[in-house]
Amino acid sequence: MTQLALVIDLNVCVGCHACVTSCKQWNTSGTAGALADLNPYAAEPNGTFFNRVQTFEVGEFPNTQTVHFPKSCLHCEDPPCVPVCPTGASYKRESDGIVLVDYDKCIGCKYCSWACPYGAREFDEERKVMSKCTLCVDRIYDPQIPQAQRKPSCVIACPSNARLFGDIHDPASEVSVAIQERAGYQLMPEWGTNPANHYLPRRKTEIRIHPEDLERVDNPLKIDGQHPEHPHRTPGREDHST
Ligand code: SF4
Ligand code: SF4
Repeated sequence: MTQLALVIDLNVCVGCHACVTSCKQWNTSGTAGALADLNPYAAEPNGTFFNRVQTFEVGEFPNTQTVHFPKSCLHCEDPPCVPVCPTGASYKRESDGIVLVDYDKCIGCKYCSWACPYGAREFDEERKVMSKCTLCVDRIYDPQIPQAQRKPSCVIACPSNARLFGDIHDPASEVSVAIQERAGYQLMPEWGTNPANHYLPRRKTEIRIHPEDLERVDNPLKIDGQHPEHPHRTPGREDHST
C-alpha cells in the first residue's frame, strides 16, 4: 500500500513560516487570508492552521540552539483518531494512506482531537467541523496543475527545501532514501500510532567563539558585565560539520 507522507529536515528549517502561510492560503484561507480567521487583529486571534511551526530554545546558555519544529497531522498508519469517530467522518484512505475528515459526516464532537496524541486536529469554529492537514489531496492529483507542482503547498513554498514529500513504502523514493540515510525518525513512536511523517534530526555543529569576540565592549553575550564562559571544547567523534 502506498503511504504518502512528509519528511521534514530539522537541520535546515529556519522557522520562516512560509509553509504555514502557504498551507493556510491553499487550504483554509478565510476572510482574513493568511491571517487567523476570527479576530485577526484583536487580542485573541483564532482560526484553523493545518500546519504550525513551534520554536524552542534548547540547551543551556551559552550553548543554546533554536529549534524550529513544523508540525501537522502525521497521517499515522495506525491512527487513533479514526476508530473513535462515531459517525465514520474520520477515515484513512487505502489508496494512499492519507487520513481525512468527511465534513458532511462530522458532527463536531471532538472525540478525534482528544484521541490524537499530537494535537494535530484543528476545530473549525465557523463551520463547526473538525479539520486537519490533508496533504493537499485536492492539489496532488489535480491534472490541471503541472506535474512538478503536484505537491503539498507547504513543500512548494519552503525556501530551504526542508520539506520532502512522497511514498515512504517505496524504498526507492526520495523520502525513503532520506529517512534511511539521515536517520529519519517518527514523533513519539511509543504511542503506537506509527506516524507516516518523519523528521530528519539536526546535526551537531561545533561553534567556536574567539576570545577577542568575548572581550568586545558591545558583546551582546555579556550579562551584568560578566563575560560568558568560553564554550570551547574538543570536538568528539559524534560531532559533524554542516
Ligand atoms: Fe490522527 Fe493525529 Fe495521527 Fe493525524 S497525527 S492521523 S490526527 S492521530
Ligand atoms: Fe468524527 Fe467529527 Fe467527532 Fe471528530 S469531531 S470524532 S471527525 S464526528
